[in-house]
Amino acid sequence: MNFSDLGLIEPILKAVKDQGYTQPTPIQEQSIPILLKKRDLLGCAQTGTGKTAAFTIPILQHLNAEVDFNQRKKIRALIITPTRELALQINENIIAYSKYTKLNSTVIFGGVKQTKQVNSLKQGVDILVATPGRLLDLIGQGFISLKDIKYFVLDEADQMLDMGFIHDIKKVLEKLPQQRQSLFFSATMAPPIVELSQKILNNSERVTIKPEQTTAEKVEQSVYMVSKDDKVGLLSFLIKSKKAESTLVFSRTKHGANKVVQKLAKFDIPADAIHGNKSQPARVKALENFKAGNIKVLVATDIAARGIDIDKLSLVVNFDLPNIPETYVHRIGRTGRAKASGEAISFCSAEERSYLRDIQKLIRQDIPLITEQPYHDTSPEEAPPKQGGGGNRGRQGGGNKSARPNNKKKFYRKRD
Ligand code: AMP
Repeated sequence: MNFSDLGLIEPILKAVKDQGYTQPTPIQEQSIPILLKKRDLLGCAQTGTGKTAAFTIPILQHLNAEVDFNQRKKIRALIITPTRELALQINENIIAYSKYTKLNSTVIFGGVKQTKQVNSLKQGVDILVATPGRLLDLIGQGFISLKDIKYFVLDEADQMLDMGFIHDIKKVLEKLPQQRQSLFFSATMAPPIVELSQKILNNSERVTIKPEQTTAEKVEQSVYMVSKDDKVGLLSFLIKSKKAESTLVFSRTKHGANKVVQKLAKFDIPADAIHGNKSQPARVKALENFKAGNIKVLVATDIAARGIDIDKLSLVVNFDLPNIPETYVHRIGRTGRAKASGEAISFCSAEERSYLRDIQKLIRQDIPLITEQPYHDTSPEEAPPKQGGGGNRGRQGGGNKSARPNNKKKFYRKRD
C-alpha cells in the first residue's frame, strides 16, 4: 500500500514524501482510514511504530478542510504526552507534515519559563502539544481555552499513569467539549489503562500493533555476564571496540546515570546524562548534542528516554537490566527504529538474573550470551540462569514472578 491509497490530500502527501517515507507503516495503514472517518481510536502501539504520523496526519487533513484561515486561530486539536522530549518530538513531526498547509502548532511543557510558550499561544495556534502539568497551569492562568477542541489525543497513556498524571488527565477531560474525536494510545493495556480509555473514547475502533516481537526480532541482542563493579570497564571496552556512532546507555537510577558519565570520563569517553533531575534546557541540549553526533554516548533513565527518536542510533546498552520486562522492549526499541536494524547489549550481574529470565520469557527468545569478553564472570554464582535445555541458549523455564516485586505499584509511582 502507498500513502496515496489512503485518501490523503496533496499537501500532506508531498510533506510525507519530503520525509522520505515510501510506504505507510502498519499502524498508519490501519489507523489513518479510521481516523479520516472521524471515528474514535484505541491504539495499542508504542513509539517506533510510526504512530505519531498515524495520529497527526488525519488531524491535519481534517483541520485543513475546516479552518477558516481568515479568522483568528483557536486551539482545535490537543495532544497530551507525558514527557517534554516526546512533546517536542511530536511538534517537530506536526511541523514537518503540515509544511504545505497554513496550519500551525505549538508545544508547551514544564521546567522552563512560560513566557515564550505564552507568547506563541497569544499568536494563535490550531494544534497544541502539551505535557499535563504545564497545560493545566496555563489553563488556570487563562492563557488556554479548551472549548474549541475538536480533536483530542492522549499519547503514551501507560506512561502517563506510571508518572502519576492520572489526576491531571481527569482535570483536562472535564474541560473538553463532548463533541470531539478522541484518540488514545498506549503500549500496554492493563486494567487501569482500559478504564481510563473508556472515560475518553466513544464507540471507538481498536488497532493493535505488536512491536514487542518485531522489535525484538529486528534488533541484534546479546547479554554479557559481568559483576556490578566491572560494568563501567566493560562499557568502555565495548564503546571503544564497537566504534559505534551513537550509544544510548540505560541506567536504572538518576544517580547511577550520573556516576556512569563520571566514570566513563576516566576512560576518556565523553558522555552526557539525561534524567528527571536535569533542567529542561540541559536535557534538550544533551539530546541535541547526541543527535548531532557531538556526543557519542548518552546515559539515560527510562522515563527520560522513552520514545526519544534518534536517527541512526547504532547501539543500546542496558547497563542495568530493568525489573519490568516490557521496559527492556521499550529500551531496545530505541535502536532498530522503523526499518533500520540495530544492536542491543545487556549487562547482567548476579543480582539481575531473575530479571533476565523474565525478559526472555516476554520476548519468547533467548538472548545470546557472549563469553568472549575481558570481564566475563565465570564464578558459579555469576553464571546465567539455569536453562531449560540447549546450553546457554535454551528456552527459559517459568518466569520468576518474585523478580517483579512492585510491578502493580509502578503504575502510580510519582513522576520522575
Ligand atoms: P514514531 O513511532 O512516530 O515515533 O515513529 C518512529 C520513526 O519512524 C520516526 O523516525 C518516524 O520519522 C519514522 N516513520 C514514521 N512513519 C514512517 C514511514 N511510513 N516510513 C518510514 N519511516 C517512518
